[in-house]
Amino acid sequence: MKMSRLFVQTLREFPSDAEVISHKLLVRAGYIRKLAQGVYNYMPLMWRVLKKVENIVREEMDAAGAQEMLMPFVQPEELWQESGRWNVYGKELMRLKDRHGRGMCLGPTHEEVITSVAREGIKSYKQLPVNLYQIQSKFRDEVRPRYGLLRGREFIMKDAYSFDSSQEGLEKSYADMAKAYYKIFERCGLETKAVQSDSGAIGGAVSHEYMVLIDDTENNAGENDVFFCKNKNCGYAANANHAVSVLEPVEVDGTKYFSEFKKVDTPNTTTIEELAEFLKIPQTIILKSMIYVADNKIVMALIRADKTFEETKVMNAVGANEIRSAAPSELEAIFGASKGFVGPKDIEQVKIPEDYEGDKITVVADLTAKEMKNFVIGANETDKHFVGVNLSDFAQPIFADIRLVEKGEKCPDCGEPLYVTKGIEVGNIFQLGTKYSKAMNAVYLDENGKTQPFIMGCYGIGISRTAAAAVERHHDEHGIKWPVSIAPYHVDIVPVNIQDELQMKVANELYEKLSNAGVEVVLDDRDERAGVKFKDSELIGFPYRITVGKTINDGLVEFKVRETGESETLKPEEAFEKVTEILKPYIK
Ligand code: ATP
Ligand code: MG
Repeated sequence: MKMSRLFVQTLREFPSDAEVISHKLLVRAGYIRKLAQGVYNYMPLMWRVLKKVENIVREEMDAAGAQEMLMPFVQPEELWQESGRWNVYGKELMRLKDRHGRGMCLGPTHEEVITSVAREGIKSYKQLPVNLYQIQSKFRDEVRPRYGLLRGREFIMKDAYSFDSSQEGLEKSYADMAKAYYKIFERCGLETKAVQSDSGAIGGAVSHEYMVLIDDTENNAGENDVFFCKNKNCGYAANANHAVSVLEPVEVDGTKYFSEFKKVDTPNTTTIEELAEFLKIPQTIILKSMIYVADNKIVMALIRADKTFEETKVMNAVGANEIRSAAPSELEAIFGASKGFVGPKDIEQVKIPEDYEGDKITVVADLTAKEMKNFVIGANETDKHFVGVNLSDFAQPIFADIRLVEKGEKCPDCGEPLYVTKGIEVGNIFQLGTKYSKAMNAVYLDENGKTQPFIMGCYGIGISRTAAAAVERHHDEHGIKWPVSIAPYHVDIVPVNIQDELQMKVANELYEKLSNAGVEVVLDDRDERAGVKFKDSELIGFPYRITVGKTINDGLVEFKVRETGESETLKPEEAFEKVTEILKPYIK
C-alpha cells in the first residue's frame, strides 16, 4: 500500500473527549471515527487489525473443534419472552418494533437464538457435543459508553455456545475453551489471567473472565479490580464482584460498652468515624446500614462498619438486575432520617413511597454481621442511634456475602495475603447448565429414548475490546506499538526525500520484493518532511520501519524496531532477509 493512497487521517492532537490511552491513540492515529455515542467507524487500518484478531480467534476456535456460523443481529421478542429475559435484561437491551408492531431487539448476546437453533437441529444424543460460534457486531445500550472501543454500544464479539449431554461433557467443553482462550490472547500479544467472576445477566454457576492486567491503579481503562494470590501453588484470582477472603478476628462483642438496649443521642455523627469516636468504641461493633434501590425496590444492606459493600454482590443477594445507592433525599423521604442514622429496627413499619415497587424493604446482611453482639445501629431518627442491639432485636435479614474484599486480607484458598490490580475483561466463559434449555424447552433424546435438556456453556471474546486492550498494553509517548500478529501492516518503508532518484528506486524495489514475499508493507511516498513521516509511522505503530535516506549513497538503509526502538544499518538485501526471517510466522 502506498501511503499517499492509504485512507487515513492522523491528527496532531488527542481528541478532547477521550480519557484512556487506547481511545486517544486510536482516534489520533486515524483508526476509528465516532459516529454516535459509543458507535464507531472502523477505518481501513482498524479493520485490518480487527480482521487479524478475528482470524486468530477463528483459527483457535476451529482447532478446538468449534464450528463457525452466523446468526441474525436482529432478534424477535418471542424468544426473549421464552427465556424470561425480555423483562429482566434492563435498558441495555435495545428494543424496537417492526411495521407490524412486533417486538424485536438488537442482539446484545445470542443465548436465545442459539438455543432455538439447537432445539430445531439437535434431536439425538448422537449429535452431541456441539460447539457453535459466530463473530459479529453486538449492540448494548450501555449506560456509560466510554473509553472508545473498550466500552462501545456497538462492538464486535465472538460468541460461542456448547451443547453437551452431561455435566462432565460441559466441563470438558469448558476446559477446551479455556485452553483456546489462553492461546488466542497470547497470539494477540496479551498476557491474560483467568479470574473467577460473577455470572450477571447471562446466568449459570461457574464462570471465568480473562483479564488483561493493568498494573497502574490510576489507569481507568482497567475497569475491574482483580484480587489475586501470589502463592504459586495456589493461583486464586477473582473479580472484586466475586472475590472472597478470610478476615482476622476482631472485637465484635460490644457488651463491655453497652450492657443494655437503648436509644442514645449521637449528634452530628454522620460518618462511621465520627460515630465511633463519639461513642468511644471500635468501628467493629457498629452495624452499618446502606439503602439501595434494586429493580426499583428498596433494599437495606447491613455490614460490620469497618468493611465496605460490594454492589454486585448486594444485587445478586436480592436477585435483582439493576442496582443503585439511594440518594440522601430519598432516605429522608422514606425513613424521615438523614444519612448516617438509618437502621434495620422496625423497618416493617416504614411506609414505602408510591414511586417504588414492593410493599416491604428487603434486608440483606453480610456474613460479618452474624458474630456481632450488643452493637450499634441507626435509629431511623436523625442524631440518634440504638446501642446494645442484637440480631434478635430486628426482623431476620437474608444473610449473604456482600462484602468487598480488601488488599491484604487472606486468600480463601491458602491464607496468604491477597493483592489487587486493575484488569480489562477481554473474554468471559460460562457454564450455563440448563438455564436456557429448560426455559425454552430445548431437548434431545438420550440413549434410553428419554427427553433431556441440553447442558450448555457460552464463551465470549470482545474482538474490538481486545484490539483496544493491545493498545493499552503496547504503546509509548509517540504512539502505538502493535504486536506483529495484529498490526495493520508489518513494515513501513520511508524514503526520506522522494525527489531523490536513488532513494526512491531502492525504496520501490524493497517495496516490490517484500510485497511479493507476502510481507504487508506500506511505502510512504508522500511529499512530506521526513519528520512528519517518522511521527506518523510511530503513531500508527508499524512494527518495523526501513528508512531509505542519504546513507543509500553508501549502499545502506536503516532498519528500526518499533517495540524496542533499536535500529541498525543494513544493506537493502540484508534488510529484506532480516524482515522476511522475522516475519516468517506471520506470512501466509
Ligand atoms: P462488561 O462487564 O465489561 O460490561 P460483560 O461481562 O457484560 O462486559 P460479556 O457479556 O461477558 O460482557 O461479553 C463478552 C465479551 O464481550 C466481554 O468479555 C468483552 O470482551 C466484550 N464486551 C462486552 N461489552 C462490551 C462493550 N460494551 N464494548 C466492547 N466490548 C464489550
Ligand atoms: Mg463478562
